[in-house]
Amino acid sequence: MIRAILHVDMDAFFASVEQHDRPELAGKPVVVGHAGARGVVAAASYAVRRFGVHSAMPMSTALRLCPAMICVAPRMTRYREVSRQVFAVFHEITPLVQGLSLDEAFLDVSGSVKLLGEPPAIARRIKDEIRSRTGLTASVGVAANKLVAKIASDLEKPDGLTVVPAERIRAVLDPLSVRRLPGLGRKLGERVEAAGVHTLGELRTAPDALLWRLFGRDAPRLRERACGVDERPVQTDLEEKSLSAEDTFARDLDDPRALDAHLCRLADTACQRLRHRGLMTARIGVKIRCHDFTTFTRQRAIAPPTQTERAIRDVARDLLRRWLVEHRGAKLRLLGVVLGGLAPARQMGLFEAVERAGGDARLDSTLEQVRARFGHAALRRGNMLK
Ligand SMILES: [Mg+2]
Repeated sequence: MIRAILHVDMDAFFASVEQHDRPELAGKPVVVGHAGARGVVAAASYAVRRFGVHSAMPMSTALRLCPAMICVAPRMTRYREVSRQVFAVFHEITPLVQGLSLDEAFLDVSGSVKLLGEPPAIARRIKDEIRSRTGLTASVGVAANKLVAKIASDLEKPDGLTVVPAERIRAVLDPLSVRRLPGLGRKLGERVEAAGVHTLGELRTAPDALLWRLFGRDAPRLRERACGVDERPVQTDLEEKSLSAEDTFARDLDDPRALDAHLCRLADTACQRLRHRGLMTARIGVKIRCHDFTTFTRQRAIAPPTQTERAIRDVARDLLRRWLVEHRGAKLRLLGVVLGGLAPARQMGLFEAVERAGGDARLDSTLEQVRARFGHAALRRGNMLK
């Protein structure tokens, strides 16, 4: 059976939410992000994109390109609320939803066709529902796999609905820029173009020797991608999603003790989110970004899975400590704690019992009760105080 995969992507999500909530901003060059020297564009409205402004761009560059732009501070709580409305629409269609971010998901609707009609009709229905509940537009790509669906959703933005039937994959993909290939990255994209490969058609038919030189042992996979071949299943959120807490510092930090204190607080926050969702983690990671924006991640699998603050904090601190030994004197602009390998805590009864014996679970739940009554700052572990 041919699968039916949808990639749904909200159009300029944060910026569109702001323009919806404040109609006076409609059609204006709006960017969402923190103003100031260190700010980065989190989202750009379509009006400001015409000036070359895009997300992840430093705010100072954006301002140079479009001096008239209107900078709006992000309201994550509001975006999460809208995101929940959007994902509620997805889950009414199929349980096979893989969220990629607040505003983007893959849906496997193969099993919904009998009930809801052909995939393009399902896509139309999702767009209509999202618009009527949130007032916002989404673009949808419909194809037989995730790769082609994702490429398709981007082809007719905003408010697009692009269907790529299996027999049209080559005709649609061949003329597209190699930059359209998800996950290729800017640097690799530049190298590929420098080697004379500009379109997916050229990538599909490039000599083996060239692909091996560019991609090494990933060469066969990249050729498959250029052909629109992708067997990866839609993984439901719980299987793949991670949960994280991160902080961008007001100024670069290099003091290991200050970094350690920050990391403890982040581990604590990530752990609380984990517990509120009734989950445990089997993979603890730290995200480290230096002042020049180079970013590192270090992670460790742990068994049994846990949701105790101490276990999570200890692993995260050890990962950071080791990284700092390798990168002495590094100046950091961002730190994060990322928890992966998530699973419902209730399936882990045995492990819970083991942890309770250690006493940590009880301490953590007491901490949470106190915080629930008196606020987060009421109680902190000693090593988080400066
Ligand atoms: Mg989007």
